[in-house]
Amino acid sequence: MSQSADILIIGGGLSGTMLAVQLLRLPVRRKVLIIEPRNELGRGEAYSAVELGHTLNGNAARMSVDPDNPDDLTQWLTEHIAGGGWPESAEQNVPVSELFPPRGLFGVYVQQRLVEARRVGARYGSSVEHIRAEVVDLQVDADSVQLTLSNGQSLSGFCAVLATGMFPAARTPQKASSGLNAAALDPWDVAAMRQLDPQSTVMIIGSGLTMVDAVVSLEQAGHRGPIEVFSRHGLLPHVRRQPPVWIDFLGSDHSLRTPRQLLRELRRQCRAAIAQGIDWQAPLDTVRVHIARLWSQATDVQRRQFVRHVRPWWESHHHRSPPLSAKLVERLHKEGRLRIHAASFKGLEPREDGSVGIRIRRRGESETCVVQGAALINSSGIEYDWRRVARPLPQQLLVRGLVQSGPLALGIAAAVDGAVLDAEGRAASRLFAMGPPLRGMWWESTAVTDVALQAKALAARLSGRG
Ligand SMILES: Cc1cc2nc3c(=O)[nH]c(=O)nc-3n(C[C@H](O)[C@H](O)[C@H](O)COP(=O)(O)OP(=O)(O)OC[C@H]3O[C@@H](n4cnc5c(N)ncnc54)[C@H](O)[C@@H]3O)c2cc1C
Repeated sequence: MSQSADILIIGGGLSGTMLAVQLLRLPVRRKVLIIEPRNELGRGEAYSAVELGHTLNGNAARMSVDPDNPDDLTQWLTEHIAGGGWPESAEQNVPVSELFPPRGLFGVYVQQRLVEARRVGARYGSSVEHIRAEVVDLQVDADSVQLTLSNGQSLSGFCAVLATGMFPAARTPQKASSGLNAAALDPWDVAAMRQLDPQSTVMIIGSGLTMVDAVVSLEQAGHRGPIEVFSRHGLLPHVRRQPPVWIDFLGSDHSLRTPRQLLRELRRQCRAAIAQGIDWQAPLDTVRVHIARLWSQATDVQRRQFVRHVRPWWESHHHRSPPLSAKLVERLHKEGRLRIHAASFKGLEPREDGSVGIRIRRRGESETCVVQGAALINSSGIEYDWRRVARPLPQQLLVRGLVQSGPLALGIAAAVDGAVLDAEGRAASRLFAMGPPLRGMWWESTAVTDVALQAKALAARLSGRG
């Protein structure tokens, strides 16, 4: 069976869905197919969350999916709450714009925007259809793009967009049947955590926002035992506060380029803010809009320096924790139930008594040692290197030479307009990418605001309006 469309969107998480929304809003007749194995569009991994405690890491004022209306989420939430939705929001006791919504609810918001855009699109004769399958292969010829799906179906289109998102290390399928992930619990699987002895020791690898989610899951599951967290630098994400506006110091000085210069200036600005009684988060937050420019202008050597020396601090200071989750982590830390260890994971240690053993090396020590617990959670992040992602599509695209790795092997390479670069470095005319696969091109290419901006620009490009 074969179907054809103008635009084939591969992946129906936030990126694919927002691209469809933006396409539907344009007065150009389009038939769009979104190929997504999940049964709902607009959710992906992040917004399929079912626990109310798994919230966005920014407040409503920061998480609009509409680049033309920063208040879009706040307005939607205001109506939703007024209609009786999310009654628990009253407990946060803050204005709607300052609420940190559950990620599952954010998924509902995205879906609602798709429903509305479908109505608008229908006026122009445009449509979006969800095909439930995984794309396992893709070929491009002079006239079209052809997709092969996991169910044997094939699709053809004028062009295709890779909106395949992130491949979490915590769930990278190549390890599903053996190794770390077979031994580890899913950070969001509260039901599995309920099976644990509540007083048992749980070990978590990684100390970023996924760890914070995992701690929320454990709490929700009734776990009350020790939690041992291992990460290379032992850094916890800072809590997100609402800092006042600070001068855009990078906007007014484009001579600041190298990681060293930038860091020195940022520290100076933070000290100046603190001296005035202003939160250090204020200067830091002005950096956000310049990251894509700074990263794309940097040399590979500078990018490597940044990744090696600055990244752990960038992650813990920039990717901050929502206040309620941060409060829980802080409480458990103070009570001594949660301990953070600066140590790198060296491998699993087989055990026969039903417990899990891991070999670690503590920072500053040369010897390794084994620690054990009743369960292990892998929160060690995302696999951005497509050569290591054992899914059929990334593998096939690399084998066919249709894509090449992006800078520092982070995702894939693309031109400024999202057209992917093939193995020879030529920009494709029919194959585009957006969101997390472009991590190497822009460094920050995964957050809601990044995805929303890219969706709008790419929709305009695909409609000949960019
Ligand atoms: C747990 C978690 C929490 C997050 N929280 C925040 C937050 O609070 N704030 C924020 O700004 N950002 C957050 N993010 C970042 C978030 O990922 C992005 O905002 C957004 O989800 C990226 O959307 P996406 O559609 O590109 O990727 P994804 O959400 O990963 O969706 C990609 C989709 O593509 C599908 N897919 C992959 N390969 C194929 C294929 N071959 N064929 C068909 N379909 C395919 C997958 O099934 C998936 O549904 C979070 C991310 C995670 C994982």
